[in-house]
Amino acid sequence: MEFLIATSNKGKIDEFNEIMSKLGIRAVSVYERYKDFVMPEETGNTFEENAQLKADTAYDFAKSCVVADDSGLEVDALNGAPGIYSARYAGDNAADEDNIKKLLNQLSGVEQKYRTARFVCVLCCVLPGGERIFSRGECRGRISETVAGKGGFGYDPIFLTDGGKTFAELSGDEKNRISHRGIALRKLYLKLSDRFKGNV
Ligand code: IMP
Repeated sequence: MEFLIATSNKGKIDEFNEIMSKLGIRAVSVYERYKDFVMPEETGNTFEENAQLKADTAYDFAKSCVVADDSGLEVDALNGAPGIYSARYAGDNAADEDNIKKLLNQLSGVEQKYRTARFVCVLCCVLPGGERIFSRGECRGRISETVAGKGGFGYDPIFLTDGGKTFAELSGDEKNRISHRGIALRKLYLKLSDRFKGNV
């Protein structure tokens, strides 16, 4: 089975490939297949709305199985910010480093015990015929005071896991085992297995 992945984020595509190949599903970027595909603006107010917007747009374009991901980081001390605005926290087209710098500034002076946060990933899958299946994964951790690690993408170098390492210090497999995206993808797989009676 093949899924078109509606994202231009290289970090996300790598993770989709790593996780889905283990489930026997091929993940192909919608941009790899259709050079002229244009992602819609993320105008939703929730991860669910934005994931649906991206998935519907890709499905209308490609008319085949698609999966879209909307994800982000919710920091408790900032009342859930940056949340759905994670990619553009420091401005439109902000680099990961700029977003990290802004977040560390916002949390300056906040003690470790109050630096709790969670990553959220919502997947929207559209099946042939247009049926939508959603799944959500969350991963709790803390925001570190300095960056550490070279792996992953986005806020990974400042997201501390329970084991004391940041996401960026984990191997791909280690991150995927506990990450919001890994959890959401495995849940989606179970829902699809159920829907197709094991023939995914
Ligand atoms: P969007 O889903 O394209 O709106 O963007 C999600 C943004 O959230 C990314 O650009 C990252 O900044 C952040 N993000 C989502 N998932 C992860 C992750 O696994 N690691 C680090 N940052 C992430």
